[in-house]
Amino acid sequence: MNYCIANWKMNKSIKESCDFLRELKKKNLESIKSEIILCPSFVSLKAVKDELEDSAIQLGAQNVHQEKNGAYTGEVSIDMLREIECEWVILGHSERRQYFLEEDVIVNDKINTVIENDLKPILCIGENQSQRNNHETFSVLKSQLRGALCNINNDAKILVAYEPVWAIGTGLSASCKQIDEVANWINEFLLQEFSIKVPILYGGSVTSSNCGSVIDLENISGFLIGTSSLDVNEFSNICSIVNER
Ligand code: PEP
Repeated sequence: MNYCIANWKMNKSIKESCDFLRELKKKNLESIKSEIILCPSFVSLKAVKDELEDSAIQLGAQNVHQEKNGAYTGEVSIDMLREIECEWVILGHSERRQYFLEEDVIVNDKINTVIENDLKPILCIGENQSQRNNHETFSVLKSQLRGALCNINNDAKILVAYEPVWAIGTGLSASCKQIDEVANWINEFLLQEFSIKVPILYGGSVTSSNCGSVIDLENISGFLIGTSSLDVNEFSNICSIVNER
């Protein structure tokens, strides 16, 4: 199974989100065998859910709080996501780590709570430019995976997105060789350390021009897409290319 996940970040109003979905539904992607997941802002989630109707396209949130409820001003709980039948949650995105100081221990808390409540986490990991330059990529990924997946339920449905920070929103995608090397390593590490085999996605300046060669890599099962997911034609082109494989 391959995945195409749109991370709209802090973009698109409710109207723009619903307009996008209406256009996407016209693209005849319903018959495709890959899973398409849209992750709009919190305020657009319910409207997008209603617009999905009986479509096979799925809904994801960009974050969630780890506590059930309480005095956490500005946060959204898992029950709130469940109430609108949101199935997926992006966790550990590098922008959350960088701007909101989310550390592995918080990501771990969120992942375990999400799984316990029958939602599905999309865990993001990735090294920054100086870590890559200093040959620290694998040690960074190892500590992010160990930290985030501590005490994980082995039967849980989870996706891991390899997103090198230097490739996010920069137009500078990692090369096939770099992605292949890391995806193979993640696959092996998760098997050895956690006895789990999970779909591994790539994220970082994915476009309809570069996705074809990446999806052919043995241990890549799709994409987490930022910038290119904002344009319905570009996003549906990526979905079609992924689906052909
Ligand atoms: C992202 O933020 O998850 C991402 C991959 O962004 P972009 O596609 O713009 O690099």
